[in-house]
Amino acid sequence: MIEYKKANSRETKIITLSSGEKIGGGNFLVMAGPCSVENEDQLMKVAIKVKAAGAQVLRGGAFKARTKSHSFQGLGKAGIDLLMKAKQVTGLPIVTEIQDIRHLPLYEDVDIIQVGTRNMFNYELLKELGKIRKPVLLKRGMAATVEEFLCAAQYIRDGGNDQIILCERGIRTFEPSTRNTLDISAVPEIQRRSDYPVIVDPSHGTGRQCLVEPMAMAAAAAGADGLMIEVHNDPSRAFSDGAQSLTPEDFEHLMQNVGTIRKAWELCDNHSKL
Ligand code: PEP
Ligand code: MN
Repeated sequence: MIEYKKANSRETKIITLSSGEKIGGGNFLVMAGPCSVENEDQLMKVAIKVKAAGAQVLRGGAFKARTKSHSFQGLGKAGIDLLMKAKQVTGLPIVTEIQDIRHLPLYEDVDIIQVGTRNMFNYELLKELGKIRKPVLLKRGMAATVEEFLCAAQYIRDGGNDQIILCERGIRTFEPSTRNTLDISAVPEIQRRSDYPVIVDPSHGTGRQCLVEPMAMAAAAAGADGLMIEVHNDPSRAFSDGAQSLTPEDFEHLMQNVGTIRKAWELCDNHSKL
């Protein structure tokens, strides 16, 4: 079994973003934004709203890994350019997914590079991301055990990049009522076995709008270090993942309830990093 910290250590790596925002060690970070960057109007509307609701990082996919080749594949470089514009306007740091290491030069001003569920096992990509010196958000493979997830993170770490955030985003099970089965127990388990901040993505984890807020609250109660939430100004017209995207108003509601849970969590003495 792979373990990365001394037994009984409460130490968690704290990662500081260019904005000064931190994650880990008791710092809770919320990343929110659309599944895909679609156009300037959509991105700006969502960026301004999620910032007002308290998100500290803007997410948005520019290179999309879609199951079907004819589904929207993302705007590519133009999408990253729009994210940079949104960063300038709102001051929010950006997290966006990389598919191909040849695109790395496009990510120079991206604050956190995301590796999606499909690429968690792409060890050559992980090795290359180990050579850079900026935070990497590694999402759990949809059929990866916690052990395999931690082993994948080690590929990045071996290159000298220890700014790694892990994201539980649900795993594939026999249960068809949700898109994936969100493994909340992975949060304290990973925290117990490693020093990585762990965030939860209840959007991909459930695939359903109505389940996102309760699972976000559950993640906060379990001691997650943050959240990733998909938000769209008009979910029914989203190019991707509309069924799991919250409206900005629903996101604001989620933020209030998650804030309440976080305050309660801070009063508890059973923090999982014991
Ligand atoms: C995403 O966050 O945009 C995404 C595609 O997530 P995942 O890789 O977890 O499916
Ligand atoms: Mn999505």
